[in-house]
Amino acid sequence: MSVFQADAVMAEIKTLRCVIGGCAYAVDEVAYTCPRHGELGTLDILYDYEALRSSLDRDALTLGGSSDCWRYRALLPIASESRVPPLSVGWTPLYEAPRIAALLGLKRVWVKDDGANPTGSLKDRASALVLARALEAGINVVSTASTGNAAAALAGLGASLPAIKTVIFVPAAAPAAKVAQLLVYGAQVLLVDGSYDDAFELCLAICEEQGWYSRNTGVNPFTTEGKKTVALEIAEQLSWNAPDVLVASVGDGSIISGVHKGFSDLMRLGWIERMPRLIGVQAEGSAVLAEAFDAGLAPEDISRQPVATIADSIASELPRDRAKALRAVRQSGGAFVRVSDAAISAAIPKFAQLSGVFAEPAAAAAFAGLERALQLKIIQAEESVCLLSTGNGLKDIARARESVGGGIAVAADIAAVRGALGSAGLL
Ligand SMILES: *Cc1c(COP(=O)(O)O)cnc(C)c1O
Ligand SMILES: [Zn+2]
Repeated sequence: MSVFQADAVMAEIKTLRCVIGGCAYAVDEVAYTCPRHGELGTLDILYDYEALRSSLDRDALTLGGSSDCWRYRALLPIASESRVPPLSVGWTPLYEAPRIAALLGLKRVWVKDDGANPTGSLKDRASALVLARALEAGINVVSTASTGNAAAALAGLGASLPAIKTVIFVPAAAPAAKVAQLLVYGAQVLLVDGSYDDAFELCLAICEEQGWYSRNTGVNPFTTEGKKTVALEIAEQLSWNAPDVLVASVGDGSIISGVHKGFSDLMRLGWIERMPRLIGVQAEGSAVLAEAFDAGLAPEDISRQPVATIADSIASELPRDRAKALRAVRQSGGAFVRVSDAAISAAIPKFAQLSGVFAEPAAAAAFAGLERALQLKIIQAEESVCLLSTGNGLKDIARARESVGGGIAVAADIAAVRGALGSAGLL
């Protein structure tokens, strides 16, 4: 049963539709996944696109919109008067990157820098919408299991709302730096003596028992709606001309599903003319979806695999949004590619030096994936490409430091400085 009343939400939600069986529900019937298809049966939130087409004006939105993700409120499942977290989420910069284009021999390349979000990753988009929903429903406790950016996003945006408490389940072995961000924001952090999957199951169980709202990826359909705003922004920032190709890194598959949903909504509205091909980038050591794509598997046939990669934000043994992610890549005519940890590490400074955008390993993986897709001729020279940089490089300083050489050690002496600069070819 859903905690949401039909009359408390926007009339525009027409259906919650199960990605596996097409099962359709009203918004007050189900809160999370399809009761018939279980955790694989994630839901699409669909609107009355005919009505939206006639009531919305794309160009008025461009002129009058707020400078955050709520400029697309009319395309989001919250009521127009509902409160939202005050932190400024979304409307992140889209930079043209001519040096990347020149180096790779591409027509045009843009970088969407979602590391510029308040807690440093694209996950803020999902947490913002989930928290707005919690406020609408009058639920004060929102919870998620995560070891990283989703948890930080929930904790940070939750801290911006006095009425909200956040409860985060992390495996006790979670990296200290990630736990620190949660604690600083004042989230209630439970260090579970077990795996991420144990933490996930415990979080779902306690949410159900206590009536807390669950933000868990691949469970809560509103996370996809929040993440779709990145695609809406890219389209608008390119004057409603979608790029030929969009490259994004993939762990649980929720971001690429959100990107697909955003462009799909715009297609249904007639605001863009074509769907970009979506290229999902996985680490070689966490490539469940890439393998399923290559083998032509259905989501039902995907099984859990052990993972190992330096890009912790895309490490996923059994991608929670596997059904939506496979559909996104297949329907868009895209592909999955795999990149090694060495390529991801090399991409961190290369990407930063060619664009000025400092990305965490999972985000730099998109750059490595673009290089790989060009080698494989999945992308052609005459195409335009948008690279999605999903998280800020300051999230993982240790990996960043490993990816570059040292500086020049020099005595505190001007002659020594001249000598060192001379050897470096700078004088
Ligand atoms: C979560 C995350 C990803 C992957 O997103 P999925 O939805 O898990 O596929 C990529 N990069 C960063 C920085 C992330 O935080
Ligand atoms: Zn179903």
